[in-house]
Amino acid sequence: MIEWLWLLLPIAAATGWLSAWHQERQRSKNTFWSPDYLKGLNYLLNEEPDKAIDIFIKLIEVDSDTVETHLALGVLFRRRGEVNRAIRIHQNLIARPALHPHQRSNAMFELAEDYRCAGLLDRAEQLFQELVASSTHQVLALHQLLEIYQQEQDWEKAINTAQQLTNASSEARHVDIAQYYCEQAEYYRKQGQNNAALNTIQYALKIDSNCVRASLLEGQLALVRHDQEGAILAFQRIEQQNPDYLTEVIEPLQICYQTLGRQNEFVLYLLHILKHYGGIRPMLVLTEIVKQEEGEQQAVDFIVKEMHKRPSLQGLDHLLDMALFNVDNITRNHLLLLKDLMTQFLKNKPAYKCRHCGFTARKLHWQCPSCKQWSTLKPIQGIDSE
Ligand SMILES: [Zn+2]
Repeated sequence: MIEWLWLLLPIAAATGWLSAWHQERQRSKNTFWSPDYLKGLNYLLNEEPDKAIDIFIKLIEVDSDTVETHLALGVLFRRRGEVNRAIRIHQNLIARPALHPHQRSNAMFELAEDYRCAGLLDRAEQLFQELVASSTHQVLALHQLLEIYQQEQDWEKAINTAQQLTNASSEARHVDIAQYYCEQAEYYRKQGQNNAALNTIQYALKIDSNCVRASLLEGQLALVRHDQEGAILAFQRIEQQNPDYLTEVIEPLQICYQTLGRQNEFVLYLLHILKHYGGIRPMLVLTEIVKQEEGEQQAVDFIVKEMHKRPSLQGLDHLLDMALFNVDNITRNHLLLLKDLMTQFLKNKPAYKCRHCGFTARKLHWQCPSCKQWSTLKPIQGIDSE
């Protein structure tokens, strides 16, 4: 019932305009209600609002005074999910030859939005491209085109459109464009085209020298061709680009240094990272190395000292693991209970958080699944970090 009443709102509005229109016509031509108008009223009385709306929309003449009302009605229908009806209204508007160019652009933009909502991306793209040439809708149309190309994962077109947007609006887009290049590079890598991937990564770094993802990809590609030196250079570049992401390269760097037989250099690097940026991952890796090289007690001493400086649940969990081996049975049972609780607690804890919308995730996404921003998810720092 409420739904039906809501539908009456536009009908009531339409009836009001019609009434005014007819009064005007009646005054000038001395005519009475047209058969179509009565038909529309009849549909309304018979609780067939869809048919009534169609008739009333046809009846309201499109002129400079009613164009905005038609546009508003179309948007209203689209937001209600009645996209086909919105399309009809906007197509009807565009078909009017007397429309002012600005009104035509408005109607074209809304029609393109209708098509996008209906999943008719080709038609939406064509209209938005026409609007890019207009003076009034250029930036809006480029934004919408960019959304479409990202949705279609057409990164070549996304790059071109983002560059056009930069020129048209002075919006800084270099971070996003670098990510589009990285998406292309990922695609080439999956296809086994590693040289093409490497070239694309260089474009990403050229447009955004702080693109962490490009350095990660470059390092991974270097590892594929067994170039550990090259991989180390790429991975360690992240320290200058954004040290928040250093946790991502600790393990691959360990593999590189181990393969090259330069474990001592790796230890020095970890100590450097720990001193300047903290982080749980380097501390845990160092603890393991101390354990292997100097024994259990030295490792416990090291982690306890570090935990005083930077308390963390992951560190505590690791400490529990080591403590379990050196206690009597009763204490061991108590510690096992604590360990179980800790494992449960840490199991579902997110490791990354979007600084734009607060979305959290277990794995790193370069585009936030929630707010769709690029490069906004970062490793969580602090006591409950990974
Ligand atoms: Zn987000």
